[in-house]
Amino acid sequence: MILFTNETKEFELVGIGCGPSNLSVASLLHNKPEITNIFFDQKPSFAWHDGMMLKNTSLQVSMFKDLVTLADPTNKFSFVSYLHHHGRLLQFLNSKFDQISRLEFADYLKWAAENNSNVCFNESVNSIDFNGEHFIINTSRRRVLGKHVVIGAGITPYVPQFVSDQLDCDTNFHIHEFAKRQRNFDGKKVVVVGGGQSGAEAVLELLNRTGNNAPREIIWLSRRENFFPIDDSPFTNDFFTPLIRTISLNKIQISVIVFLNAMYLLVTVSQSIHYEIFTNVFTSCDILSVLLCV
Ligand SMILES: Cc1cc2nc3c(=O)[nH]c(=O)nc-3n(C[C@H](O)[C@H](O)[C@H](O)COP(=O)(O)OP(=O)(O)OC[C@H]3O[C@@H](n4cnc5c(N)ncnc54)[C@H](O)[C@@H]3O)c2cc1C
Repeated sequence: MILFTNETKEFELVGIGCGPSNLSVASLLHNKPEITNIFFDQKPSFAWHDGMMLKNTSLQVSMFKDLVTLADPTNKFSFVSYLHHHGRLLQFLNSKFDQISRLEFADYLKWAAENNSNVCFNESVNSIDFNGEHFIINTSRRRVLGKHVVIGAGITPYVPQFVSDQLDCDTNFHIHEFAKRQRNFDGKKVVVVGGGQSGAEAVLELLNRTGNNAPREIIWLSRRENFFPIDDSPFTNDFFTPLIRTISLNKIQISVIVFLNAMYLLVTVSQSIHYEIFTNVFTSCDILSVLLCV
């Protein structure tokens, strides 16, 4: 239903997209009624990379790097508050998880989105104009005015041009569609292209398949010289603190980050998944070959 009216509501801040980035802004603004705000997302309801939500995947960062805690530890949309709300805080502590499951974190994000009335789903932003004083935001359901606009529209999956016209849903597909439907790899030779976190998760998922569902052979391709894990050490993590981010405008800091990137030290693959793949191959099956760019 289109809700266009002559009365155009004005907000201090309008958010476009409501994935984790803008949901964080929305959560931080929730207890600040003086900053009127509204956020729009085109999806029917909150979803965090559903097509890549493979079994047993976990969050790559600390649970304290949730939507709000680092900026506002008393905010009601913290991960701890989510656990408390569901009566699971003590059990969570007793479980002593090394890592938080991505499914659990996705549920937390969904809970935060559903409990914030300033977040609207099923509403796509179609255009933005500026009249010299306000942004004019046209959605699929209405027009609003905003003094500030925060764009958190995410990124689109990268598909190299030379394969873009050969991708279909059954045999050649991008990882963002992997979990969306059951695929039968029975006795097939499967090639996984990409040595990052998503490629590693796909390889592990394939290795864990058994019986009729298992592929005959897996080839894992990477242009890197090795399967490098994320550097999660304190000094590297320190590059991402807000203080460093302001200093990083300084050329020296930027060149250090460029250097770390070139050394693959800021890649995102968690070490645990490398161990899991390696021990899986070592203990049970011999179907994985890897091709590295050396
Ligand atoms: C599988 C996967 C796992 C990840 N795991 C981690 C992790 O463990 N730790 C970590 O730190 N990072 C992780 N990341 C990286 C990063 O945190 C996520 O990609 C995160 O989702 C980025 O959030 P975002 O809000 O910027 O973008 P997105 O999540 O892509 O959200 C963008 C939103 O904007 C909406 N949108 C776009 N255009 C419009 C429009 N015109 N109108 C209305 N809505 C619109 C989309 O519907 C979407 O909901 C992961 C990424 C992936 C792909």
